Amino acid sequence: MILSKQQYGTFAEAITPDVEFELTQTRRHIHQHPELSFQEYKTSAFIKDRLTQLGIPFRSVATTGVIATIGSGTPCVGLRADIDALPIREATSLAFASTTDGVMHACGHDMHTTMLLGAARLLKENEGRFNGTVVLVFQPGEEKNPGGASLILEEGALDNPRPDVMFGQHVDPDATVGSLSFVSGPMMASADELTWTIRGIGAHAAQPHKGRDPLFAASGLVHHLQGVMSRMRNPLEPSVLTVTSIHGGSAFNVIPDEVQMLGTLRSFDQAWREKAWDILTQQTSEYCSLHGCSGQLDIGKGYPSLSNDDQTTAFARAIATEIVGPNRVLTFEPKMWAEDFAYYAQQIPSCFWMLGVRPPNLATMPGLHHPEFSPDESALVIGTRMLATVAMAYLAKAQA
Ligand SMILES: [Zn+2]
Ligand SMILES: [Zn+2]
Repeated sequence: MILSKQQYGTFAEAITPDVEFELTQTRRHIHQHPELSFQEYKTSAFIKDRLTQLGIPFRSVATTGVIATIGSGTPCVGLRADIDALPIREATSLAFASTTDGVMHACGHDMHTTMLLGAARLLKENEGRFNGTVVLVFQPGEEKNPGGASLILEEGALDNPRPDVMFGQHVDPDATVGSLSFVSGPMMASADELTWTIRGIGAHAAQPHKGRDPLFAASGLVHHLQGVMSRMRNPLEPSVLTVTSIHGGSAFNVIPDEVQMLGTLRSFDQAWREKAWDILTQQTSEYCSLHGCSGQLDIGKGYPSLSNDDQTTAFARAIATEIVGPNRVLTFEPKMWAEDFAYYAQQIPSCFWMLGVRPPNLATMPGLHHPEFSPDESALVIGTRMLATVAMAYLAKAQA
């Protein structure tokens, strides 16, 4: 089982006021200078500067990503942080708010990057105390297909050294700062991007019989597909289809000849996901033809579902108990969100956990991707210790 604290430590003493100050300053700098997915050039340069100061070797991956290594040989443990921001105009009025108009770290990836840099410092300072390798993955483009994780794996950037396990974390505005949440098995959903094109025949609005109305077909299709999801899916299999945009026409008195719809399909089960692609495509075509229109569905395949490895999760959870105490280790309720950490978890036994960031005096706070999202910075110390400890403890355990 887990080794005693004395054998690997939980870095409680290592978090000096100096380290804590550095974490806050780092986070605020990254927060102030957000960059969109796959354009993280300055963020990447900042990470490389910091790694250079720490004397940690690194290389570039997937253009704006950085992979650093501490130690050498086997066993090998991977820690991942995503580094990209979102196309959102910040509305927090923080002193260190985004200086780039329309771009904001509204998903907490500034926190993730900071905590991995913090763990890098702690692990580097303790390099003599462990055998094996810690691989630090500063990953670009989590928020945008095809996702930086898939590019990193395709490049073979994690082949040598190959992590035996991977750990990652995400800030959680639904949980109080000081808590850590875990779940074994399915945690987040696959997410596909759907685009429907419904073509009819335009006509005068007063003479619908002279055309074929694609708006009428589209409005019915939205309902019809929810029925399909309800009747053709195993009710024990969670999945959701949401239509998020309908666009067609521009006048009071004209039936347009085309309507476009956008939406998302989410699921935990790959077999159902693939079946749903076929069913939705066929039903779109057949339903639209009932109204004399053609209906085409294009499916942009997104991230797979994220599933945590049982053993790896039990291990991380036990470490969390030592860091925040058993009462603050929670069970995460799976969500139909998506996360490209799923790609690592498909290939390597992995655990992705949630780090509470809601200030203790608030019952709720603006959520992820909200322009007022503002995580409690005292979580930085917890997430940093968690990353460093889980890595050290894993290496110690693998050799015990
Ligand atoms: Zn996000
Ligand atoms: Zn995120």
